[in-house]
Amino acid sequence: MRRLTLLLLSQLFTLQASGQREVSFQPPLKIPMYLSGNFGEIRSDHFHSGIDIKTRGTTGQHVSSIENGYVSRIKIQTNGYGKSIYVAHPNGYTSVYGHLDRYRPDIAAYVKNVQYQRRSHGVDIYLKPEQFPLKKGAFLAYSGNSGSSSGPHLHFEIRTTGNQHPTNVLEYGFDIEDLVAPRFLSLYLYPEGRGSSVNGSAEKLTLKIVSENGIYAIQEEIITASGTLGFGVEVFDYLNGASNRCGVYTFELFVDDELTYSHRMDEFSFSETRYINAHIDYAERIRSGTKVHRLSRLPNDRLRIYGKLVKDGILEVEENRMYSIRVVATDVAGNRSELKFHVTGKKENISIDSTHPDFVKSMKYDKPNRFKDGDVTVEIPANALYQDLEFRYQRLPRSIGTLSDVFQLHTPETPVHLSYTLSIKTDSVEPSLRGKLLLITYDHENEVSSAGGEYLDGAVVASLRSFGKFAISLDTIAPEIIPLNGSSGKDLSGKKTLRFTIRDDLSGIEKYEGYIDNSWALFEFDPKNDLLTYTFDSERITVNTSHELELYVSDAKGNVNLFHTIFSW
Ligand SMILES: [Zn+2]
Repeated sequence: MRRLTLLLLSQLFTLQASGQREVSFQPPLKIPMYLSGNFGEIRSDHFHSGIDIKTRGTTGQHVSSIENGYVSRIKIQTNGYGKSIYVAHPNGYTSVYGHLDRYRPDIAAYVKNVQYQRRSHGVDIYLKPEQFPLKKGAFLAYSGNSGSSSGPHLHFEIRTTGNQHPTNVLEYGFDIEDLVAPRFLSLYLYPEGRGSSVNGSAEKLTLKIVSENGIYAIQEEIITASGTLGFGVEVFDYLNGASNRCGVYTFELFVDDELTYSHRMDEFSFSETRYINAHIDYAERIRSGTKVHRLSRLPNDRLRIYGKLVKDGILEVEENRMYSIRVVATDVAGNRSELKFHVTGKKENISIDSTHPDFVKSMKYDKPNRFKDGDVTVEIPANALYQDLEFRYQRLPRSIGTLSDVFQLHTPETPVHLSYTLSIKTDSVEPSLRGKLLLITYDHENEVSSAGGEYLDGAVVASLRSFGKFAISLDTIAPEIIPLNGSSGKDLSGKKTLRFTIRDDLSGIEKYEGYIDNSWALFEFDPKNDLLTYTFDSERITVNTSHELELYVSDAKGNVNLFHTIFSW
C-alpha cells in the first residue's frame, strides 16, 4: 500500500513537472498514429476517456499489447466499445482496446465458449493472470468498427489499474506528432444572476474570435458589463496529419494577470464523467451542438479537473473599471494559444427579467424537490441538478397516439445529473395491456421515442435523466425480422454467415435468441446497422445437412416475433 502511494506520488510529481509520465509503452498498432479523437474531448454525457487512432479507413489492423501483462477483462456489448479487451500491466496501468473486429484465435475460442455457456452475445469476463499472459508487443486482436463506432478506428485507453481511472494517453510519450496549437473559435459571456448584464442585455453574448499575429482577439472593440459575469470559450486542438477537432489539455483564465480559473484534463473517474454537462454550456450543446467550455464552476459540479478557482471563476464587475481578460489554452505537447480582450464595468439599466409564464416552483439543487399537478408527480432527488432552478411546467393537449395529456417538464436545455421520477396516472387501460404501457418523449422536431417506464399502481412511472415533453403511450408491436440471405428452404452451403435485419419501433430490441437444431446459437447484434449475424460454426453444427432455425426477437415491452426456417449448410 505504501509502495503504491509512493509510486503514485512519484508519477504525479513527474507529471506536474513535464506533462509526461515516466513509463515506456510501445504503440498498440504497427501503423503511424494519427488521431481522430483525443483524451478529454467533449462527447455526449461524458468526456472521451481515450484516444481514437485512425486505421486507414479499414478494419483488421493488428492490435498488440503495449507492455508485458495479462488479459484481465474481455467485454462484449452491442453498444459502447463493442468488442473490447483489457490488459493489466505490472507497472500499475491497464490498457483498453475497443471497437475491435475480432480477437486473436485462442482468445476468440475462449470467449465463444463463455458465450455458449452463458447463452449470451454480451459478456463481461474477468480473467486470471495465468490465462492469457502477454509479452510486450503480443498480438491481441484485429481492429474494427464494433459497438457505437461510426467508422473503423481503434479506441485506446490507459487506466490506472487500482481505481480504473482513465488517464490522458498523450502523457505517455507515444510518437504522435503535434505542432499545432489550440484554436479559439468563439467567446461566450454570461450575465450570472438577476440584474447582471453584458452589452446592455441580460442574455448571454456570443462573439466571434479572430486571430491577429498569433494572438486571438474579438472583433468588437468594447464589452461592457454590470453585476456578475461568467466566461466560456469554444476552442479545439488539432494534431498533425488530421483535420479532426480534438480536445484541449489545460485552460487558464486571468483577470488583470491574476489566475482566477484553471482546469487540466489528465485523469477523471467514470463516476464523475457525466458532470461534463455542468462543465459545458449544456443549453448551447442541445440547441446548436456547439461545444463550449465554461471557465467557471456550477455549484454542484464535482469534477476533479479544476485547479485554481477564485469565486468559482465568476467575475464581480465594478463600475467604471476596465478589466484585461486573458484565456490560455494548451495541448499536451506544450503548444499554447492566448485570447485577449477587455471588459469595462458600466451601470446599465436593464429591465429585470420577469418570471417565465410557465414557472411553477423554485428548486434548491441540494435538496429533494417534488412537484405535483393532479395526476402528474415529479420527484427530483437532492443533487440531481447542478444549480438552483426556477422549474417550469405546462400541460398540453393529447396528441395522436397518446393515452394522456402531454406534459412539458421544464426544458431539455437544462441538464439533469441523477435520475428523477415522473409518474403519470392512467385511467382506463385494460389490465391485459398494462404491461405494454410506457412513456414517450418528443425531440425538437417532434419525433417520438421511448422514455421507458412501467405500469405501477394505476400510473406509468419512469426514471428519467432529461427534461422535456412526455406522455403515456402503448407498445404492442413486435420487432420486425427480415432475412437477408436465409429465406426458407435455401441452400447456404459455402456461406460464412446467416444475416437478418431486425428493427423495433418504440421500446427497442431487448432480446434476441437463435436456436439451430434446437440448440442455442450465437447471434451477434449490431444495433447501428440493425444487423443480426450468425457465423456458421462447424464445431457446433453438422456440415452438409439440413438445419432448422428458430429466431426469437423481443422488445422491452415483451412483444416477441418468431422467425422459423429450414435451410441446408
Ligand atoms: Zn474513442
